[in-house]
Amino acid sequence: MITREKALSEIAERSESLVGYGKATKMASPAEVFGLNVFSDVAMRKFLPYSVYQRLKSVIRLGGKIDEQLAEEVSHGVKEWAISKGATHYTHWFQPMTGLTAEKHDSFIGFDKEGIPIDRFSGKNLSQGEPDASSFPSGGIRATFEARGYTAWDPTSPIFLMEHATGATLCIPTIFLSYTGEALDKKTPLLRSMEVLNKAALRVLKIFGNTTATRVYSTVGPEQEYFLIDRSYYNRRPDLLLTGRTLFGASSPKGQQMEDHYFGSIRERIIAFMQDVDMELYKLGIPAKTRHNEVAPAQFEIAPIFEDSNVANDHNQLVMETLKKIAFRHNLALLIHEKPFAGINGSGKHNNWSLSDSDGNNLLEPGKTPHENLQFLTFLTAIVEGVYQYADLLRASIASAGNDHRLGANEAPPAIISVFLGEQLTKILDSLEHNKKMDYSDKQIIDLGLGKLPVINKDVTDRNRTSPFAFTGNKFEFRAVGSSQSIAPANYTINTIVAHMLNEFADKIEVNLKEGMDLNKAVMEVVIPSIKKSKPIRFEGNNYDPEWEKEAEKRGLPNKKNTPDALKDLISKKDKDIFIKLGVLSERELESRYHIYVEQYSKLVNIEAETALTIAKTMVLPAVLRYQDTIASSINSIQSVKGFKAELAGKQLELLNKYSTLINELHNSIEALENRLNEVKGISDSEKQAEGYCKIILPLMNELRSVVDSLEEITDDDLWPLPKYREMLFIY
Ligand code: ADP
Ligand code: MG
Repeated sequence: MITREKALSEIAERSESLVGYGKATKMASPAEVFGLNVFSDVAMRKFLPYSVYQRLKSVIRLGGKIDEQLAEEVSHGVKEWAISKGATHYTHWFQPMTGLTAEKHDSFIGFDKEGIPIDRFSGKNLSQGEPDASSFPSGGIRATFEARGYTAWDPTSPIFLMEHATGATLCIPTIFLSYTGEALDKKTPLLRSMEVLNKAALRVLKIFGNTTATRVYSTVGPEQEYFLIDRSYYNRRPDLLLTGRTLFGASSPKGQQMEDHYFGSIRERIIAFMQDVDMELYKLGIPAKTRHNEVAPAQFEIAPIFEDSNVANDHNQLVMETLKKIAFRHNLALLIHEKPFAGINGSGKHNNWSLSDSDGNNLLEPGKTPHENLQFLTFLTAIVEGVYQYADLLRASIASAGNDHRLGANEAPPAIISVFLGEQLTKILDSLEHNKKMDYSDKQIIDLGLGKLPVINKDVTDRNRTSPFAFTGNKFEFRAVGSSQSIAPANYTINTIVAHMLNEFADKIEVNLKEGMDLNKAVMEVVIPSIKKSKPIRFEGNNYDPEWEKEAEKRGLPNKKNTPDALKDLISKKDKDIFIKLGVLSERELESRYHIYVEQYSKLVNIEAETALTIAKTMVLPAVLRYQDTIASSINSIQSVKGFKAELAGKQLELLNKYSTLINELHNSIEALENRLNEVKGISDSEKQAEGYCKIILPLMNELRSVVDSLEEITDDDLWPLPKYREMLFIY
């Protein structure tokens, strides 16, 4: 049986015994299960003495150190809680530079002096761990002889339990550092960036006379896109298994052209999966809010309610892991790659970002009074100028081999970073720039011809879906983040840029105030030049339009179409300086990150190329030779029939020739890719090597793909080994 046939028959034979099908059992409500597997306030109050609870909460709220004694007292309560829920092991849960999460489990088992078994979990176990760090990417920070790194408890993200079929593991969110104190993970710079942003934003709030806010934090709500396909297909596609994307596959006659999937009714098999996912997330305290079909067939989205960026980042990691885990239960496979299928939409992560103060005010919410609006305008223009000055850093923060298939390829958002503000704000900024009086009269009311509909903030509906960085009423939506990426780098980059700009604004405004200007003038003297300066980054038009690329070039905006190019900005002097100055990342940390990303890029493309070669040689070639033989034999056999008119074999001969030409091209493509791959593998300079993978290997892989896809289109369907697009995308 050929590979693909196995998948097809497996699916046909599988009895779909979906959990709860047709039963509609009464389930617990979201609120009832929410946070059940989290060491939440409720659990803390139950398992910790009140004074301990208060001390811990104060550290969480105001920052500060957890001393040994407090850690000891908290660890006892955590252990009792975890064991009461069936946990047997604990782990420090961290986010190394792989972009994934890491865990190393330790059992609670221990023995006292008399040799009696006891469940043990100390303050030290809670607050510090020592995973063998030598096998995580460190970009040269940690030579193997000093392999030890350590993990340290991050009390600002809740402790949780990871359930599995036969038990549960206690997970402590941690940062991951080298013994010299350098960050080996993605969470540490995120926490640092939140701290500097807090300080800078509080400074600005003080200028506006705010005396009550004690903290400002960035909030994030990441909308996560993903694909689902049947597991049997997935298992029979080495490319999906090893690289997360299809390296081959002729397009399906039906793709997304009917536009019938987006927000379409969700099929029963999928809704069963989504339901399972949501309930699992509620238990983990993750506020999953929205679920729907996306644009491409088999593509979906899940969006949570926003949280502070540290917790949102941890939760997004858990969302990705939960989607994957639950998909398995439902005989589905999760494809979280940015471009799993050629020719149809890829997946991103819309990173909604805003600022909130400790009194619960969204600082990007336009105000009601002129004073509030002045403050709003200050934050807004600082952000816009930040994006203008550091567009290249934002681009670098989301650079990856997978994301290159969206950004700067044939899909949006483009690799050019620009800001969309909407009509209303654009008018406001333009009139400030030109010192004109605003005409507000037409803006307050939207006339629908059916009577007047007041109180609609027009910008909320006035969306530009093509913009990579769009203001959406009371937050910015950074839409260029890749679906499989950790959101930490994007967010620590935004936080750092904004902190830097707010500090610059505050410096200047404070000087103006000292010189005796009133607040309004002191602020406007800073805001208006900033509006003028950063104007080139503002773009309200269609970002997919090829004209935009030319226009952006005229405006001097960077347009880095691939990862090796985009990454270079991470180590340019101007860009390094703000990270170093604010203490978010040191020079060494930045350099090491750069090396890690460059290497990761090369390794990934290398795996893709090797996988493509394996499939071409061991699956495609044998299949097409068989079909070639069928055509040839058929010609031979009809021609041996007495009285057969020879000219009637003409079309078949044509087919044979065409087919054999393609097979020849296949041989050549394989050979070319193999040879050049060996060359590129041998390049010792890592930057040059990455460029080789980008400029030489990827184009050759595309050539190979196009030959294979042409063969797929005319090869006997029964012989084709790989599950096809039309099957994978439309199975439900
Ligand atoms: P959309 O029309 O884009 O779906 P929504 O208002 O539903 O707009 O929000 C989408 C995402 O934005 C959600 O994940 C939500 O949590 C997030 N979001 C809303 N407000 C904020 C905020 N103040 N800060 C960060 N994220 C936010
Ligand atoms: Mg959105």
